[in-house]
Amino acid sequence: MLILTCPACGIAADETELHPGGEAHVARAGPHASEEAFSDYLFSRENPRGVHFERWRHAMGCGKWFHAARCTVTLEIFGTYRADCTAPPEALLERIRAARPGWSWRDFK
Ligand SMILES: [Zn+2]
Repeated sequence: MLILTCPACGIAADETELHPGGEAHVARAGPHASEEAFSDYLFSRENPRGVHFERWRHAMGCGKWFHAARCTVTLEIFGTYRADCTAPPEALLERIRAARPGWSWRDFK
């Protein structure tokens, strides 16, 4: 069972209390973006075998959105953090690098 700690209220919620929101840190296409950039924003998503950054909502709790770093293979949770962060906290990235040497994802190396 997937258990994530909501960073807003501190409760360790199981997946029945949460609502998935897809990939985290998707850059929005601006008003003057090309059709290709807008199409990528709408439809292109990462589908990694390994560490993935995801959006979750504590739907049956405080209702807040947050981000989680999770391994899609082992379901290991590396941590959660507030949804208003534009990048994962450095401490979380260090934890992932320690567990997965050589790991990188997008600009988060
Ligand atoms: Zn919460």
